[in-house]
Amino acid sequence: MGSKLETGPNRRGRFGVYGGRYVPETVMFALDELESAYRGFRRDRTFQNELKQYLRDYVGRPTPLYFAERFTEHLGGPKVWFKREDLNHTGAHKINNTVGQILLARAMGKQRIIAETGAGQHGLATATVCARFGMNCVVYMGEEDIHRQAPNVEKMNLLGAKVVPVSSGSATLKDATSEALRDWVTNVRSTFYIIGSVVGPHPYPMIVRDFQTIIGKETRRQSLKQIGHLPHALVACVGGGSNALGLFTAFMSDDKVKMIGVEAGGKGLGSGQHAATIRKGKPGVLHGSYSYLIYDNDGQVVLPHSISAGLDYPGVGPEHSALADIGRVEYGSATDKDTLRAFRLVSQLEGIIPAMETAHALAWVVRNRKKFKPSQHIVVCFSGRGDKDMPILRAESEKHQ
Ligand SMILES: *Cc1c(COP(=O)(O)O)cnc(C)c1O
Repeated sequence: MGSKLETGPNRRGRFGVYGGRYVPETVMFALDELESAYRGFRRDRTFQNELKQYLRDYVGRPTPLYFAERFTEHLGGPKVWFKREDLNHTGAHKINNTVGQILLARAMGKQRIIAETGAGQHGLATATVCARFGMNCVVYMGEEDIHRQAPNVEKMNLLGAKVVPVSSGSATLKDATSEALRDWVTNVRSTFYIIGSVVGPHPYPMIVRDFQTIIGKETRRQSLKQIGHLPHALVACVGGGSNALGLFTAFMSDDKVKMIGVEAGGKGLGSGQHAATIRKGKPGVLHGSYSYLIYDNDGQVVLPHSISAGLDYPGVGPEHSALADIGRVEYGSATDKDTLRAFRLVSQLEGIIPAMETAHALAWVVRNRKKFKPSQHIVVCFSGRGDKDMPILRAESEKHQ
């Protein structure tokens, strides 16, 4: 098994055959400009120190590695640890990336920030750093998601961002992303586009991954100290795939560490109503990049389904597609039903309400617990907290009354 992907992408912005830049010509120069600025700042000690300081004092890093004792007891093993990204400022891992990108935008002299958002977590993390750095902020969000995630919309407005409703297509994340790209094509000189996951044209998948790798770097150090050795396995939910790569990357060359990405299985992989892009998709082009994608026989992107607004994206980051092909990461899925059950279970056993996205990773652990020995340790990326998901829980409860 050729598990060495190195730390791609290659010079053409590809992870294996995936990735690249499928964008209008007007955007090409902006991507070149972004890439050279980013490569400069990656080597710049002042920038790195400033980033480190914001991650510590503003975001609240390092986040703890927490032993979930009662959840472990309930499972009868393996020993489960939560990497607590829910404790970050704004309640998820997204801010690790937006802090990095806003520092880049400032250094590049851009004053106007645009972003897309699904569940609103990336929009919120972007609106937050825009407030902190005094930048104009426009967030594109599908009308359907605005409806599902009202508390995050109110917060973005309070922070001074302009939330633009997108009513085209399915009025969800896919359409919000298309609209943000359209804005960028028009205003490319003045505007910095903060992408929220490891998706989009090169160099975004690389940049977002790099800013999220702090999750895995800390986890590696904490595992050696708290467990005494590296964990047996790492588990993370996969929407675009940024919290997963954030956790996995620091362990990529530790061949003994298993990695599992959990996609949204929705109503089941056979139902056609899911967002299991890698499990059920085929390679294609969406939003500037070549990667696994869910589309029909006419080449039309299929509307994905998930109980969580943060996972119902029909694409996935190109690096995940490459990792799936070479078998370095295993991809599983969790249904809506299992996810809701895990959401309640972990809330009640640990006193920590997980994001509905995170609950997919937890549900996978519950269902696959027998694949592990009770003595083995696994780390779950606890990507966010679940306050934002109370309306979903309420709606589900009402449905079943
Ligand atoms: C956005 C989000 C996700 C999914 O995005 P990835 O890029 O796959 O990490 C998962 N969990 C939470 C809490 C999120 O906000």
